[in-house]
Amino acid sequence: MTAKGPFRVLVADKISLDGLAPLRDDPRFNLDEQQGLSGEALARAIEPVDAVIVRSATKIPREALAYATRLKVIGRAGVGVDTIDVAAATERGIAVLNAPAGNTVSAAELTFALMLARIRRIAAADRSMRAGEWARSNFGGTEVYGKKLGLIGAGRIGGEVARRARAFGMHVMVYDPYLTEERAEALDVHLGTLDEVLSSADVLSLHVPLTEATIGLIGAEQFARMKPTAIIVNAARGEVIDEDALVNALREKRIAGAALDVFVHEPLPADHPLRSFDTVVLTPHLGASTAEAQANVALEIAEAVRAALVDGDLSRAVNAPAIGGEAARRLRPMLDLARRLGALAAAMAEGPVRRVDVRYAGEGDDALRPLAATALVGVLENVVGASYVNYVNAMHLATARGIDVRQTRLGPNVAYAEYLEVRLGHKGDEIRIAGALLGAHPRLVAIGDYRVNIEPRGTLVLLRNRDVPGVIGRVGTLLGNAGVNIAEYHQARLEAGGIALGVINADGRLSAEICSALRGLPEILDVRQVQLG
Ligand code: NAD
Repeated sequence: MTAKGPFRVLVADKISLDGLAPLRDDPRFNLDEQQGLSGEALARAIEPVDAVIVRSATKIPREALAYATRLKVIGRAGVGVDTIDVAAATERGIAVLNAPAGNTVSAAELTFALMLARIRRIAAADRSMRAGEWARSNFGGTEVYGKKLGLIGAGRIGGEVARRARAFGMHVMVYDPYLTEERAEALDVHLGTLDEVLSSADVLSLHVPLTEATIGLIGAEQFARMKPTAIIVNAARGEVIDEDALVNALREKRIAGAALDVFVHEPLPADHPLRSFDTVVLTPHLGASTAEAQANVALEIAEAVRAALVDGDLSRAVNAPAIGGEAARRLRPMLDLARRLGALAAAMAEGPVRRVDVRYAGEGDDALRPLAATALVGVLENVVGASYVNYVNAMHLATARGIDVRQTRLGPNVAYAEYLEVRLGHKGDEIRIAGALLGAHPRLVAIGDYRVNIEPRGTLVLLRNRDVPGVIGRVGTLLGNAGVNIAEYHQARLEAGGIALGVINADGRLSAEICSALRGLPEILDVRQVQLG
C-alpha cells in the first residue's frame, strides 16, 4: 500500500502556493501547474499524472477521465465535490479527496457577519448612505445578547458558530440527530427537536450538508412554525431551503428576514425575487473566501494527496471506505489478509460469484467496511484484472456485477483477537475461508470445516485426499523429485479415515505436469493451485 514515486501532480486551478508546500518541497513529487483547461486538453493533461488538484473553476466530468489510466487521486481544495463526476472516478478506481476542515472558521465568521448585518440593518443602511441619506430612524435593530440561536446541524461549522454565539451572550439550541450528548455538552448547547428549534429561535442558522434528508428541509411548513420576528441565515447549501417558500414567507412577513450566502442556482439569477427584499442580506457564496481558508484548504488537500499516494491513506476520500492515519497502519496486516482470503475464495469458486459475505471479529470499530472492500479486491482481481480493481472501486464493481455483498460484524472470537472470514456463494454452494492474526502475522486458519494453520502467501496448493497412511510422504517425494521446495505442509481432517485437506505452501508455481502427476496419485481426489502473491 505504500509507494515511492516519483509522482506527477497536475494543479489545474489557481491554488495558494504556500498551501502546496507539502508537495512542492517533497522531492518525490513533480507539480505541473496548468490552469483553464477543459475538454480534450484537460483529458490529455490528466493522462500522464498520478493526481490532479482542482478548486472549483476546473470541472472534472466523465470525459476528462477518458485517458486516466495512471490517475489515482483527484483532490478538491474545498468541501463540495459537485464539480467532479465522482461516479465516473469511482468506476475507474480513482479516489476523490476533499478538504472539509480548512473553511470552517471562515464559514463560521461569515455566518456571524451575515447575522449581524441583517439584525443591525448594516447592508440596507449602507445602501441608504450611498444614496446620500442619513435615515437613522429607518434602521432600528435588536441586540443578539440574550436571544436564542437555533442551529440546524452542529458539526465543524455549526460548532464554531455555537462557540462564537456564546461569546455574544446568545442561548444556543441545536437540532442535529447525529450529535452525541457529549459533543452537545462540550459545545454547551441544548439539543432539541426540529420543531422546538424552529419555534423558539430568534435566529435560525443552517449548517447541514446537502443530503437526501436535507434538501428542502426548511420549507413552507417550517417557516410557518418560526416566530414572525425571527430571521434565517444560510451559509450551508442553497438547496436546504425551499427558495419559493422563503420568498413567500418574506413577502407575507411570516418571518422578519434572511441572510444568505448560498442559493439553489449559483450565480443567483439577476432577476431573482430574493434580490428585491430590503429585509434580506445577500452575499455571493463567500463563506470560504478568505486568505486563510484558501491557504488552509490548499495545505489540507496537498497533505491528503501526499498521504494517499505515498501511504495509501484514503481517509479523506469521499468515495472510499474511510480509514486512515494510525487506524490504517494498525489495520494493514488485516487488510493484507482480507485481500488474500478474497483471492483464495475466488480461486476455489466454480462459475460466477453470487454473494460475498465478509465477517469480522476484532477491535477495529471502523474496520469492517475497509476489510470488506479489500476482500472484494481479492475476489475480483482475477475476474476483472488486478489493475482494474482497487480499494476505491471494488464495492462498486462487485455490485455492478450483481454480487450480493454483505458485511457482518461478529462477536469476539474466543481463539483470535483479530479474525476475518470470507464466505463466497457460487453455484448454489458456499466456500468459507477464515484467517486471523497470530501476533502480527496473517495466517489462514480454516478452509470450510477444516482447521488449518498456514501462511496465506505465495503458491498454495490445496489437495483433497483420502486419509490413508503415506499420502504426505508420496506428495512430498513427488514434489521433491520435481524440484519443488515445500515451505509448509498442513494436513487437516474432520475424522480419521475420511477425506482430508492438504494445504501446501510451495516455493514457486507448480507446472501443469506436476499438477497432473499429483492428480495421478491414487489417494488424491482434487488438486488446486492458487497464486497469492
Ligand atoms: P459537518 O459535516 O462538519 O457538519 C454537518 C452537521 O450536520 C453534522 O453534525 C451532522 O450530524 C449534521 N446533520 C447531517 N444531516 C442532518 C439532518 N438531516 N438534520 C440535522 N443535522 C444534520 O459539515 P460542516 O463542515 O460544518 O459544513 C456544514 C455546511 O456548510 C455544508 O453544507 C457545507 O457544504 C457548507 N459550507 C459552506 C461554505 C460556504 O462557502 N458558504 C463553506 C464551507 C462549508
